Amino acid sequence: MKCNFDTVCRVIDFNIKNNKINALQLQNGNEIQTERVILATGHSARDIYYLLHKKNIVLQAKSFAMGVRVEHPQHIIDTIQYHCKGDRDALLPAAAYSLVEQVKERGVYSFCMCPGGFIVPAATANGEVVVNGMSPSKRNNKFANSGIVVEIDVEKDLPKYEQFGVLKGLEYQKDLEKLAYTSGGRSQVAPAQRLTDFVEGRLSVNLNETSYQPGLQSAPLHSLMPKLIGSRLRTGFKAFGQKMKGYYTEEANIVGVESRTSSPVNIPRKDNLEHPEIQGLFPCGEGGGYAGGIVSAAMDGERCAEAAAVGL
Ligand SMILES: Cc1cc2nc3c(=O)[nH]c(=O)nc-3n(C[C@H](O)[C@H](O)[C@H](O)COP(=O)(O)OP(=O)(O)OC[C@H]3O[C@@H](n4cnc5c(N)ncnc54)[C@H](O)[C@@H]3O)c2cc1C
Repeated sequence: MKCNFDTVCRVIDFNIKNNKINALQLQNGNEIQTERVILATGHSARDIYYLLHKKNIVLQAKSFAMGVRVEHPQHIIDTIQYHCKGDRDALLPAAAYSLVEQVKERGVYSFCMCPGGFIVPAATANGEVVVNGMSPSKRNNKFANSGIVVEIDVEKDLPKYEQFGVLKGLEYQKDLEKLAYTSGGRSQVAPAQRLTDFVEGRLSVNLNETSYQPGLQSAPLHSLMPKLIGSRLRTGFKAFGQKMKGYYTEEANIVGVESRTSSPVNIPRKDNLEHPEIQGLFPCGEGGGYAGGIVSAAMDGERCAEAAAVGL
């Protein structure tokens, strides 16, 4: 049967015979017969990871990173970066920053820093809170936000999740997102704390103004976050305050959780970009573990398209 490409067709299953792809099953009941599939469903398509795992298609657990978003008034970042007092020069763009610190053998670093930007909700299922960031093209909002995340080594850091095998990172990610949902009050309101309160271990009596539209709820993230992440974040934030004088301030909020920096699962592929066991399956982009952002995902898409077209 034909798929109507004017509408979104969700893939719900793969038909595989003798380790070769031969069709895709769609949610609308249609089937697409094909011998080659570029699988580029992104790092949040958990249903696809579960489906592949259920079909015993080889996957690998992959290290990733998780943490929080920190939000400062943009003028504080401008003052630090431009060494200016008061407002930045009208010709200067909103200042950005990039920070990294090694804490107890794991990287703690800024991710997707958004000058003049907004913190936005990025959950993909009910019962979870995930935050991300974006800047409008003018970068003219009055806040600067950035993910501050801790590297998670899947081989060493998740002993309690071993029962989930290659999906252990995914399950850990889900648990942190559920924790953000319950501690934020069971809606898209996100749990938050003043930066200094988080580092010094006390509940915030009140919070700073925020760009996050659903709103914030004061929560003791210092005690709720797993120690693996929370203690490293605290050390990292103090170190960042040394590198950028004025960064460590009660005028900043931290907002939970920044959990989708990259895929916690890798879908393996051979040199010809095909899955090692399933002929005709080409894992691609961020969901396969081969990209980290718009440009690298687009470039990987081109490579996969060329690889899938060989011999046609
Ligand atoms: C708020 C936000 C801001 C970002 N800002 C930046 C930025 O400034 N710079 C940057 O480089 N990156 C940014 N990123 C990251 C960037 O969007 C991703 O790295 C990139 O989009 C990954 O591309 P991809 O093609 O691998 O996957 P995706 O863009 O996630 O595309 C996957 C597609 O597959 C579809 N899909 C999923 N499951 C199925 C299914 N079962 N059947 C059919 N289709 C399915 C999805 O609907 C989606 O359209 C941002 C991400 C977010 C959420």
